[in-house]
Amino acid sequence: MISRGIDKRADCDCIVIGAGAVGAATAFELADRGLNVTVVDRAPSIGGGCSYANAALIAPGHVTPLATPALLREAPKQMLSRPPSVRIRPNRPLLTWLPALGVSAFAAESGVIRRELQELALESARLHEALAQRGLNPTLRKTGALDVFSHRPRRPPAGLLSPDQVHDMEPALARTEGAAFEPEEWTVESQSFVRAMLEGAADAGAHVQFSTTVDQLVREGDRVVGVRSGGRTILAGHVVLASGVDSAPLAAQAGIRAPLQGGRGYVIDFRLPDQPLSRPVRLKERRAVITPLADRVRVSGSLEFGTAAETIQRTEALRRVAAEALPQLLDAEVIDRWTGQRPCTPDGVPMIGPSRRATGLDLATGHGMWGLILAPVTAKIIADSVVSAPGSMPPPTWTDPDRFTRSAARPPHSLRPSAPRTLMA
Ligand SMILES: Cc1cc2nc3c(=O)[nH]c(=O)nc-3n(C[C@H](O)[C@H](O)[C@H](O)COP(=O)(O)OP(=O)(O)OC[C@H]3O[C@@H](n4cnc5c(N)ncnc54)[C@H](O)[C@@H]3O)c2cc1C
Repeated sequence: MISRGIDKRADCDCIVIGAGAVGAATAFELADRGLNVTVVDRAPSIGGGCSYANAALIAPGHVTPLATPALLREAPKQMLSRPPSVRIRPNRPLLTWLPALGVSAFAAESGVIRRELQELALESARLHEALAQRGLNPTLRKTGALDVFSHRPRRPPAGLLSPDQVHDMEPALARTEGAAFEPEEWTVESQSFVRAMLEGAADAGAHVQFSTTVDQLVREGDRVVGVRSGGRTILAGHVVLASGVDSAPLAAQAGIRAPLQGGRGYVIDFRLPDQPLSRPVRLKERRAVITPLADRVRVSGSLEFGTAAETIQRTEALRRVAAEALPQLLDAEVIDRWTGQRPCTPDGVPMIGPSRRATGLDLATGHGMWGLILAPVTAKIIADSVVSAPGSMPPPTWTDPDRFTRSAARPPHSLRPSAPRTLMA
């Protein structure tokens, strides 16, 4: 195996900035391949970012770029529904970002990218299962999922189940107008996934450091050779930037434009005496999800841009919406409420792979609605790019992390001469 540019003076082979689902999976994959890894996160413990909670779905068939023609058609209706499931408060960055997102839905290559993204999601679902077989994905369960309609759909999906069939499958649900069953889906609780990945990484020799905020990338010419945190420098052969929606300022230090916006969502968790559902239920018209987890029922939803957190109001609205489908939620004990920002790019696909702007820097961010499912395949792409071994795949061109940066057309860094040895932060 050949590691790309491992530096003998470095404190470690790789630093991963961010211990969310994406960073934790990447740290594990790199450590599992024998590299000396340090993973740092500014939060005091697991769950400092968007991976604190989510709908817990591994639903490869639903993975699309953020903006699709169907979503854009539906967005005005979602914004006007009561309560709205899509909200936008325009601010200056959104004035250019949102039109770019809209345009991406109709771009000539959007169909190809959508297919490639689904392939990636399928591959990632397989990797989730492979991790589970190694005991590294303790809450992964193959459950399938129901897409439930409260009104008769105008264009019924193939295999629409009758209201009685839905009742037989999920007797706790209120009367529906039918549902589509998706058998090839899994659930995995996000924090347990992150914990298992970090524990796996630590078992393979990685150092996991919480309460460690990276303030600066350390550069040597145009090579990134480490990070600085509170006056301390950690040198590394490679730096992986996986700090979710907050990746932009650090990327900018290396001359990379990462135009990320937070797509706010909300989660409310309930404790019920018995688990009422056997599988996740997506409320199609309401764009909310009810997910049964080991010790709770989770309701999640909303996509907001430019909004401030309104956790109590918005999670109560989610409760009302979900209780129309699952009446037991109306009086159920609430055990957690949370809001988080999905790291969204203006073309709706993640930024994954090595940068040509900055040797030694890989990006793994911008996963938007799908960071949990895509975490293992992102880790594989990054590890394949850092360590070339037989069977390594080149990173997909459409996740190129330099695509938003002007004049990024430089040769791949493995071909570039080494930089001068002046340290710059
Ligand atoms: C309501 C909701 C439902 C969702 N449902 C699903 C779903 O069903 N399936 C799915 O696949 N995805 C889902 N998602 C999306 C998914 O949760 C995210 O895409 C994913 O959590 C992003 O992971 P991440 O590791 O990129 O970022 P994060 O989890 O945000 O991790 C980034 C980490 O970087 C750290 N950090 C930031 N800056 C610094 C710094 N300077 N120094 C050190 N550390 C730093 C943060 O503390 C954080 O821990 C959902 C999201 C929401 C909000």
